[in-house]
Amino acid sequence: MPLKTNSTLEKETVTDVKNLPDLALKLVENASEGILITKKNGTIVYANNAFLQMSGYSFEEALGQTPRILQSGKHDREFYRDMWDSLSFYGAWQGEVWNRRKDGNVYPQRMAITKLEDPTHQDEVYYASMVHDLTKVKHNEEELLHRAYHDPLTKLPNRHLFMDRLEQVVNRAGRKRAKFAVMFIDLDNFKHINDSLGHDVGDMLLKEISRRLVHCARDVDTVSRIGGDEFTIILEGVEKEEEIGIVASRVQERLAEPYSLGGNELYVTVSIGIAIYPENGETAVNLLKNADLAMYHVKETGRNNFHYFTESLNRKAINRMELEIQFRKAIRNREMIAHYQPKIDLRSGRMIGMEALARWPESIGKFGGPGEFIPVAEQTGMIVEMDTLIMEKACLFTKEIKRMFSGRAELFKVSVNLSTKNLDSMNILKNLIAIVGDCGLNPRDVELEVTESIIVRNVESAINLLNSLSRHGFSISIDDFGTGYSSLSYLTKFPISVLKIDKSFVDNLGIEPNARAIAKAIVSMAHGINIKAIAEGVENPEQLKFLRGIGCDQMQGYLFSKPLSETGMMELVQTGRMLPR
Ligand code: C2E
Ligand code: CA
Ligand code: CA
Repeated sequence: MPLKTNSTLEKETVTDVKNLPDLALKLVENASEGILITKKNGTIVYANNAFLQMSGYSFEEALGQTPRILQSGKHDREFYRDMWDSLSFYGAWQGEVWNRRKDGNVYPQRMAITKLEDPTHQDEVYYASMVHDLTKVKHNEEELLHRAYHDPLTKLPNRHLFMDRLEQVVNRAGRKRAKFAVMFIDLDNFKHINDSLGHDVGDMLLKEISRRLVHCARDVDTVSRIGGDEFTIILEGVEKEEEIGIVASRVQERLAEPYSLGGNELYVTVSIGIAIYPENGETAVNLLKNADLAMYHVKETGRNNFHYFTESLNRKAINRMELEIQFRKAIRNREMIAHYQPKIDLRSGRMIGMEALARWPESIGKFGGPGEFIPVAEQTGMIVEMDTLIMEKACLFTKEIKRMFSGRAELFKVSVNLSTKNLDSMNILKNLIAIVGDCGLNPRDVELEVTESIIVRNVESAINLLNSLSRHGFSISIDDFGTGYSSLSYLTKFPISVLKIDKSFVDNLGIEPNARAIAKAIVSMAHGINIKAIAEGVENPEQLKFLRGIGCDQMQGYLFSKPLSETGMMELVQTGRMLPR
């Protein structure tokens, strides 16, 4: 075919290379791009292999037809008119075209058409199309888009898409003043399932929960997974608040049904918070925040329930935020202080140590007790820094006591509470050793009070950490003993020195035979494994008498002394009779 492109191809170059037409034809025939040549009137005169493969037609089938057999019907007249305008004006066109394969499938392609003139017959015009199949590219684009907006595990919309949708719903509802609700659903104790049964089971559970949630919602509602164990539902077109309550109850019931996963029968409860547009927020951000607050309220009041957002929750949240800011400042400026409560040996009646308890210093304003700031510290993770600070202050003060009473306070120990959160920090061992060393104390002077939850949470690493601490000389005491749910087998897995009978049992010694039985059992269990038992919260002589009677070794409580400031403690110690002989 004696063709010449519109571009100025030099004649000499062409004739220089022998057999060029043959080579060129081979190249065209085997090019990876599809190539189609038609006459001016549209009759197909040539199609290369790639084109035939793409379109599904054989050479014979295509020859003599026009590209109309390829049309998908997806483009309007204007599209083709533009194409022809460009071809007649510039002699070229390119763009994306949806075409139809022989089997009927429609697919996207990138097409570049060039007008070719036969130099020997001026009015003999051809059109050559280079075609690239975009099916894969489009598919990848779509997949990327899908992935950016969906959670890969459950295939539900992610936080991003959820917020987009919520904004759309807000806009739509705003125009019509229509009511809708945002439901914030958080699983109770999901972390525990993940930790104890492994992430595979956790993943299976999340998938099943998503399935059930989608089932509970109506077709128009959007169910999303916006965080690890956090789901949301946008309930559109709500007429009455009762409807929302009905969906919430249905979600609760449906999710509470047993799950059998990986050979386990699991039960899950959820906490649900609800915010209603427009009264609980007029923007997507506020609605989500308020639904979250309402959910949080359910968590705080016993979980496994649902709650609507109210203004008082908002005030509570603001107060909490205020507390958090103040607390952060108090830690940063090292203003948190410790008070100290004496620990008494029940046989000698002497003070054998003291427990450091964190206090919010009145000097920096609004006073809050540990009951108020410890939960905030735990939730924000600041408890780790707080424990370190209290440890530093307590060790310095203990060193002071030992210096004042040189020789007589050798066995005097300071106990420090160590939150479970410290387990997550790899440096805790190094930190504690450094603090103790820097104050000139020995780890033997320090007892660490941990609760049973430290063991439940992460058995292997907890045992390793507690063993290392003990090898370095620290003693370990189990605080609030008897209130956790853990198995007792851990008692033999690492070196504990003391079991602390929880205050709730001590409180009930006078009224509850069970409390007396439990206290007695704890003491004999401690003695059975050669460690000591201490009772906390001892407030009256009857309790003391009973504890003495069952052989309890030590006690602390208001009966002897409330937690004291450093000055108060120093004064008590100065009476002398408190220290071991
Ligand atoms: P806990 O470790 O069980 O501390 C004992 C609590 O009982 C202390 O409350 C103490 O003041 C109180 N108490 C002692 N004797 C009596 C008594 O006879 N009667 C009554 N009614 N109460 C008594 P506090 O200081 O309010 O601390 C509460 C909890 O806060 C502590 O319980 C502990 O879990 C936590 N906490 C306190 N300081 C720290 C700390 O520095 N670090 C960590 N991680 N937690 C701390
Ligand atoms: Ca304690
Ligand atoms: Ca306790």
